[in-house]
Amino acid sequence: MTKLRLAIVGAGPAGIYAADILLKAEKQFDVSIDLFEQLPAPYGLVRYGVAPDHPRIKGIITALRDVLDTGNIRLFGNVYYGRDVTLDDLKQHYNAVIFSTGAIKDAPLDIPGIDLPGSYGAADFVSWYDGHPDFPREWPLDARSAAVIGNGNVALDVSRILSKHADDLLPTDIPSNVYEGLRQSPITDVHVFGRRGPMQVKFTPLELRELGELDDVDMVVYEEDFDYDDASRAAIESNKQIMVIDRIFRKWRDEPQSDDSQSGASRRLHLHFFAGPVEVLGTDRVEGFRYERTEPDGAGGVRGTGEFREVAVQAVYRAVGYFGSPLDGIPFDERRGVIPNREGQVIDDHDEPVNGVYATGWIKRGPVGLIGHTKSDAMETVRHVMNDQANWWSPAHPEEEAVVALLQQRGVEFTNLQGWHNLDEHERALGAAQERERIKVVPRDEMIAASRG
Ligand SMILES: Cc1cc2nc3c(=O)[nH]c(=O)nc-3n(C[C@H](O)[C@H](O)[C@H](O)COP(=O)(O)OP(=O)(O)OC[C@H]3O[C@@H](n4cnc5c(N)ncnc54)[C@H](O)[C@@H]3O)c2cc1C
Repeated sequence: MTKLRLAIVGAGPAGIYAADILLKAEKQFDVSIDLFEQLPAPYGLVRYGVAPDHPRIKGIITALRDVLDTGNIRLFGNVYYGRDVTLDDLKQHYNAVIFSTGAIKDAPLDIPGIDLPGSYGAADFVSWYDGHPDFPREWPLDARSAAVIGNGNVALDVSRILSKHADDLLPTDIPSNVYEGLRQSPITDVHVFGRRGPMQVKFTPLELRELGELDDVDMVVYEEDFDYDDASRAAIESNKQIMVIDRIFRKWRDEPQSDDSQSGASRRLHLHFFAGPVEVLGTDRVEGFRYERTEPDGAGGVRGTGEFREVAVQAVYRAVGYFGSPLDGIPFDERRGVIPNREGQVIDDHDEPVNGVYATGWIKRGPVGLIGHTKSDAMETVRHVMNDQANWWSPAHPEEEAVVALLQQRGVEFTNLQGWHNLDEHERALGAAQERERIKVVPRDEMIAASRG
């Protein structure tokens, strides 16, 4: 029977679901899958993106772990595609490759002052508080007031983590340095800015409602933002999600509003709508944020009103989206930050399929959508891999041991599935010592040491 030797690069949910779907599919050939991951730990943004105080979502890791534990997938952790293995190597050892490398960087926001010290990308901050080993361990939490630009769930995550008291995060798996950093934060006010109206937000209701449940944090909304136009009223009537969002805002609007904490809360979270970012103010570092008041344009968008406002802040976080990174030897769409593809089959500059090369997850369709969406994505991609047998590569060294020998010969300190189990147990033991479920290990060398025993 023919055997498909498949490499998958990126052990986030997209890569793991692709492996699972392929293994379970009815097929006329055997399959052996090697999963390459640049980190010593799998699960991608489920471990390094999903907020630590969302344990239900983090719990998806259990299902992903079950897939890895079936025994039919080899995990090669701490192996970076483009440095430790190349496209030529993959062609020597496999019939095909699926790239599921996701996204880890911030999309740019081109306004004056965005590069001032004190202006940060949300993705970098997320990587810090979720303990990603490739990011600095210190985060300058010295601002009393901060602006968060964006109206999606990542903006809500960032605002929530900034305004939440560190002790309320202790039941989570946050690393010790993150707890210490947040504990010393002097923040009192977080201002979230969205260019469009409250009925055009990309928040999900659950995440929005959660803001109102934070201990010792007052929600502040501004009545001037809630003079709904026809399009907003129609959206409330036709879309259940927007109806719920409207209800959440109504509750906050009915509460006494204060900028000076009448309720006695020590922190405030302000939501500003119809506020288009114009400039990050400051000379040597961030001192303020300037925005233009917008209004509905009658066609579902907004236009500037020419009225400019400023708020004094010492930090600005832009949460305007993630952006994928190019991969050596693989076509890349610089504008969208994705690998160009047709239903997961990678295509070149001339729209022609690149034999043996496929993509799935965020690097395939862009950094939008929930973890569940990566499953349907993977189904589509895997279908093409399976139907494409005539175009698979013919590797010179398909034996499973050949790739192990290659990595060893190159001195790559790769980890494996047992290594991940070792690290997992080590993190749980660190947590148990402090009556917490887990404490994440951050430095890469410590992760490798715990993995390799
Ligand atoms: C801040 C944030 C919060 C989120 N919260 C939620 C939530 O609450 N609920 C929800 O459903 N979804 C949430 N999401 C979305 C969810 O995380 C994504 O839908 C999902 O992780 C995308 O999966 P992926 O496998 O495509 O990419 P990723 O999860 O990014 O995985 C890609 C993997 O590829 C690896 N990799 C990258 N480059 C290389 C290379 N060169 N060599 C080897 N390996 C490489 C990476 O290390 C990573 O492990 C959130 C996303 C973010 C950013």
